[in-house]
Amino acid sequence: MKSFSAAEEKKGLTVLTPEDGFRFHCHPGRDCFNRCCRNITIFLTPYDIIRMKSAAEMTSSEFLSHYTVTLIGDAGLPVVVLKMQEDEEKTCPFVCGGGCRIYPDRPWACRIYPLKPESTKITEKAGKSYYSVMEVPFCQGFDTDREIAVKEWIQEQGVGPYMEMEAPFKKILADNRLGQTKITNEKIQQMFYLACYDVDRFRRFVFESTFLDRFDIQEDEIETIRDDDLALYQLALRWIEYGMLAQHVLKVKPEVLAAGKKELGIE
Ligand code: SF4
Ligand code: SF4
Repeated sequence: MKSFSAAEEKKGLTVLTPEDGFRFHCHPGRDCFNRCCRNITIFLTPYDIIRMKSAAEMTSSEFLSHYTVTLIGDAGLPVVVLKMQEDEEKTCPFVCGGGCRIYPDRPWACRIYPLKPESTKITEKAGKSYYSVMEVPFCQGFDTDREIAVKEWIQEQGVGPYMEMEAPFKKILADNRLGQTKITNEKIQQMFYLACYDVDRFRRFVFESTFLDRFDIQEDEIETIRDDDLALYQLALRWIEYGMLAQHVLKVKPEVLAAGKKELGIE
């Protein structure tokens, strides 16, 4: 097992595999306790939002409007950032004297710290993952003899389910067809935001629009998505893939197809 300390990083980027170790130990006894929960930019994944809005006992729409800001990323798609408080230190709205108020549901970025993924499309295709250790001068967590392997840290911090839920989302974003032209169509941006981030509003869209009349969704899936956010998120990703990448991951009902063809005069 290769071992790594923050001091070594100063000599250049050290890339770690899941088997490699690094030294880190964070606990409430540190003078820097909670300092890392200020003045930072935390991008939220769709799964982060599902976990955090449940912890905050809010709907996704309420959570998004209270706690997030939305930006448009390089590809022209919306990205969601945790909105810090407007105090001098830009404090996270979830931090309190005892630590993180939503610790069991804290976002992915807070769990993986101090590691930073260094994987690329190529390494991911090859099924390999790489990480570096961030250099944060005030963080005393590096001042320890406790050594832990990257894969153990990932397990200890409960990152696994986040990676699993993130994989299909990342796969869509990594599709070469999306990178070719920057998306500027507001309707597409809104559709992406609705499906990926605002799960409760997407549920209303599915059940209150013509969605279920158009798409062939099995009865048992329809029943599941009534109150299962993760199942609904999976359907949302299929809808995004269908709409943006023209993938046949959703089946249009035969009668809808036939009516469309008739309208176009091709049958
Ligand atoms: S040791 Fe680092 S991660 Fe832990 S509380 Fe201090 S600054 Fe935050
Ligand atoms: S969500 Fe929790 S762990 Fe993350 S920055 Fe806020 S208080 Fe800290």
